[in-house]
Amino acid sequence: MISHFHGDHINGLLTADNQAAFPNAEVLVPATEWKYFMDDAEMGKQTTDRMKGVFANARRVFEAGLKKKVTPYEWGKEPVPGLTAVETVGHTPGHTSFVLSSGSENVFIQSDVTNDPDLFVRNPGWHLMFDQDPVTAEATRRKVFDMVSADKMRVQGFHYPFPGLANLEKDATGYRWVPAPWNPSI
Ligand SMILES: [Zn+2]
Repeated sequence: MISHFHGDHINGLLTADNQAAFPNAEVLVPATEWKYFMDDAEMGKQTTDRMKGVFANARRVFEAGLKKKVTPYEWGKEPVPGLTAVETVGHTPGHTSFVLSSGSENVFIQSDVTNDPDLFVRNPGWHLMFDQDPVTAEATRRKVFDMVSADKMRVQGFHYPFPGLANLEKDATGYRWVPAPWNPSI
């Protein structure tokens, strides 16, 4: 289940010699992200080395490596039972988060709504160079953090320090993040 096409979220789909690392896996990708990064016209518009590199890497992984054998999924749907895809654009044009539900419990898998929470949860107005559209990314960040703090929904963040799971609370200038207690036994 892919959230967006930055290298640190897709490169593990390939082995070091550019073969599919998980040949029997079905790879699900956000439909909007797929359409954008596979669009030659969008690729041609890029002016920065960083963005040209993001496009080139997405093409390397999905076209050359996986031969476009992916299944696009839509926002607002459950690509797999219990996992709802949520539009959280700004970081990339098709950036996606998820709500994972089991019984009465759920967790918000934020993907890259924000990076290091010590910096960007505390200061949601700070912009990180990896946010492709920083103004939209900030609006998304505030909307998501308002929602999860009001609903007391736990958040999983790929770039959060161990255990990668936290509760967010609103404070005077931004939000506080409180790491979830971790228990080594299930
Ligand atoms: Zn990213």
